[in-house]
Amino acid sequence: MSKGVVDVVVLGRGIAGAVLTETLLRAGHSVHVFDRKQEGNASMAAGGVVNPLVLRRDIPSWRAKELLPVADALYTSWQSRSGVRCWHHLPMVKVFPTAKEVDQWQRAMTAPESAPFATLQAEQEVDDGPFNAPHGYGTVRGSAWLDVPALLAAQHEELLDAGALSEQLVEEQDIRVGADGVCVGAVEARWLVRCQGPFTSPHGLVPVKGETLVVRIPGLVLTRMVHRGVFILPMGEDRFRVGATFQWNDVFEGPTEAGRTWLLERLTQLVDAPVEVLSHTAGVRPAARDRRPLLGITGPGEALFNGLGSRGVLLAPWCAEHLVSHLFHGTALDPEVQWDRVLPDASDGRTKE
Ligand SMILES: Cc1cc2nc3c(=O)[nH]c(=O)nc-3n(C[C@H](O)[C@H](O)[C@H](O)COP(=O)(O)OP(=O)(O)OC[C@H]3O[C@@H](n4cnc5c(N)ncnc54)[C@H](O)[C@@H]3O)c2cc1C
Repeated sequence: MSKGVVDVVVLGRGIAGAVLTETLLRAGHSVHVFDRKQEGNASMAAGGVVNPLVLRRDIPSWRAKELLPVADALYTSWQSRSGVRCWHHLPMVKVFPTAKEVDQWQRAMTAPESAPFATLQAEQEVDDGPFNAPHGYGTVRGSAWLDVPALLAAQHEELLDAGALSEQLVEEQDIRVGADGVCVGAVEARWLVRCQGPFTSPHGLVPVKGETLVVRIPGLVLTRMVHRGVFILPMGEDRFRVGATFQWNDVFEGPTEAGRTWLLERLTQLVDAPVEVLSHTAGVRPAARDRRPLLGITGPGEALFNGLGSRGVLLAPWCAEHLVSHLFHGTALDPEVQWDRVLPDASDGRTKE
């Protein structure tokens, strides 16, 4: 696993590139990674929340039942191999904003596809804490938190030790495609997989900015995630992450006063306690127009792994397995994730979405 000739060059090491690298190494492939952190990096701003339900409608997120065990298996074994505690099974408590949402939750508890994830149970910390929940709450089963920066830091050390990471910006002129593969700088590979997140613009990619805060709420006892308009995620030592905003214009402008105010307003609607802001972060989600991943071979020796949108932690392990199997075993790609589904259709000028 070093410079020279490798099976795969991974370009970009957010959660997409990191999970792909781990998946390739586990499958016995050699890898070299190129990555240089830039403002707007999605994975460093991410809450890291895995939530199998879409909380506005209380329906499962795309393929949650299939994706969740794959994510759980990878992060559990990666955590024990690296020795860094980063994967936490944490229930998510949804505080109902209106009485209407109580009925919606009751329906979710009986509908076959959402029933495994929606439950009603007493949550003592919410009942006894400073939470504003006049309409009650439901608890999501199967939710979790990945401490993404901790996992990325652990892998960073491993890759550096192995000489398998170049922390440099790759320009298009650094990439040369040959008959047997691709060269990136001095590294030759059978495949180059672009995991560049929002720092590239394949067709169909829509960047969506998000902001989060880390706050201190002295004395708040909470071992669950709580959601109402925003999520609150306990990080230990009275610290909580609060997120997130969604914004479709000026996506690379960084943290804003408007974003901070919006988050704090929602937080204070939910928790009646003094809050101190410790940090404020912005990132850009690489979302596809139809909210599905963008995967597959894009040209000789080149492939794409992008479009993880707002659910990168849940999607990345399944996507990485699927892409590796496609590249090395010729397994057909699922049409729902194939990148060229979003290309303009030459025959009638419409997109294939
Ligand atoms: C505020 C916010 C909150 C979020 N919360 C959650 C959450 O709770 N749960 C969840 O699952 N998802 C969440 N997301 C979404 C999640 O962050 C993304 O789905 C995921 O991080 C996308 O990862 P990525 O690897 O595709 O992109 P990125 O993390 O942006 O990584 C791309 C990497 O490629 C590098 N790169 C690009 N081009 C080059 C080049 N030419 N040379 C060298 N390096 C290059 C970049 O510098 C970067 O390091 C959130 C996103 C935001 C913004």
